[in-house]
Amino acid sequence: MMITDYPLYDQLHCLDGQGYGAYKSLKGAYQFEGFTLHIDHVQGDPFAAPSRVRVVMPQAVAGFPAELWQTPGRAVALADFLLRSAYQATQQRERQSGSGKSGLIGVVRPSQAILPRSAAQVTAETVELRLTVGLPAFGRRIAGRQAADLLCRALPDLVHQTLRYKSLDAGAMQRHIHCAEDADALRSQLADRGLVAFVADGAVLPRHSGVDERPLRDQAVPFQSPESLRVTLTCPHAGSVTGLGIPQGITLIVGGGYHGKSTLLRALEAGVYNHIPGDGRHQVVTDGSAVKVRAEDGRSVAGVDISPFISHLPQGKSTRQFSTMNASGSTSQAAAIIEAVEAGARVLLVDEDTSATNFMIRDRRMQALIAKDREPITPFIDKVRQLYTDYGLSTVLVMGGSGDYFDVADTVMALDEFVPQDVTAQAKAIAAQYQTDRHREGGSHFGDLTARIVQPHSIDPSKGHRSASLKARDTNQLQIGTEAIDLSAVEQLVEPGQVQAIAEAILYAQRYHMTPDRPLSQVVNAVMADLADHGLDALTEWPMGNLVMFRGLELAAAINRLRTLQVQSAHR
Ligand code: ADP
Ligand code: MG
Repeated sequence: MMITDYPLYDQLHCLDGQGYGAYKSLKGAYQFEGFTLHIDHVQGDPFAAPSRVRVVMPQAVAGFPAELWQTPGRAVALADFLLRSAYQATQQRERQSGSGKSGLIGVVRPSQAILPRSAAQVTAETVELRLTVGLPAFGRRIAGRQAADLLCRALPDLVHQTLRYKSLDAGAMQRHIHCAEDADALRSQLADRGLVAFVADGAVLPRHSGVDERPLRDQAVPFQSPESLRVTLTCPHAGSVTGLGIPQGITLIVGGGYHGKSTLLRALEAGVYNHIPGDGRHQVVTDGSAVKVRAEDGRSVAGVDISPFISHLPQGKSTRQFSTMNASGSTSQAAAIIEAVEAGARVLLVDEDTSATNFMIRDRRMQALIAKDREPITPFIDKVRQLYTDYGLSTVLVMGGSGDYFDVADTVMALDEFVPQDVTAQAKAIAAQYQTDRHREGGSHFGDLTARIVQPHSIDPSKGHRSASLKARDTNQLQIGTEAIDLSAVEQLVEPGQVQAIAEAILYAQRYHMTPDRPLSQVVNAVMADLADHGLDALTEWPMGNLVMFRGLELAAAINRLRTLQVQSAHR
């Protein structure tokens, strides 16, 4: 039993039986044996969002050897490990009785990805954990003894159990950190090797279920690279790792239905993040700027130049500055691609399952029936190579339905019972034998890209919620003022905390970086540079425990989906 902080302990006993509002007096800092407890925000009633607290422990007490945190990557991985220990401890606790959230101790729930989060931070000086606690009550009366037990016994127990080197599994901790460091090393070798992604042999790509991101266990067929596309990369800890290297250019993933095409693509989408040991995808890495683009009919689009893909719409509607409150499948997918390029994507990930058919293909017969001057769309098949030659943008495309793409692919890979084969030569021979007789459409160049400048006043947080709804349990939506932004098609968001942080970042961008001459991409880069320098706390006035790092690409994607967004073209 450790020595607790008696002033707080006594204070809580004195509050017993008083109205819930009297808890407000607790706000402040308390010295405990080995750490400081900060009570930052006190909930207004037992059913409200729980109170926010922080625990700060000096490294002298926490005792983590410097080698575990001395690089930024290791500090992130160590903090991730500590958060997971804390999360597990909160899950195993038995909660005391009481009204509403009485007795709860919570931390944000980490996904399979290793990410910087405000909830756990490690520096040379301190280790910090941010939690929520449900201050106990019976009805609306303070349960003082239960509160004393919660804050002066249960919480310190959890802190000492999860924030001190001595109480943790040193081997697991080291594996965790090495795993992240290896993934970083793999990813950093991609560009030099002319690759956009790497999938290690033995990786387990399928997930437990559509709603459970943990790996599929027993029936999973481990990944096995085709020899002709096999590369060997080296990591500081795991040494040499062999696997599939997906080359720059245009890669087609083909194969029969249910043979694992989309599962491979989803692993590539996730490969922009590092994953925990045992995830199965911890040695699957993708260029950090890779963006999954898809059709999303019904979304809004603000002033995007989609003319490379779509021109002369009915009623003479402009596509050089295309705006709509209700995009079609094809216009939404065109906008998503242009927006991704504008935001700095170097790799596009596309799945036929989530694409608009008329955006992807237009075959010979359809060309004969519907003349080009009656069809606004230049299909992706005629633009995908120009994206690469004109702008250096690679594409990985799942396409089991149309062999027309054989003509434009550099690499064709077939999945057969979840095992990839290199069928490039075969596909090219077939393309030569069975000419499609399609006409190329849309000219010989991709077309210009026009930067856009956001009108800051078109973002209005003044009404309703200030930022993301705290109720956000998933990654599908955020709230700015009265405006909801639908993020369900922004598929590389993996934690609600990223959405929360993006909501804060939109307001931060508006306040500090949106000026009349600054294109959106520069605004996003400026925000990300601030986060790199100052961490997620730069986004909020008070230290919050629920923010998770995101990419500038997703920040841009969220801004682009704001229905009130107005932009100007940056061309003079
Ligand atoms: P496709 O896109 O080719 O139609 P999916 O990627 O959707 O196929 O995969 C079909 C099913 O097979 C899914 O339930 C998926 O979880 C499972 N699956 C994918 N890859 C593997 C694998 N390597 N081992 C076992 N099952 C897999
Ligand atoms: Mg599929």
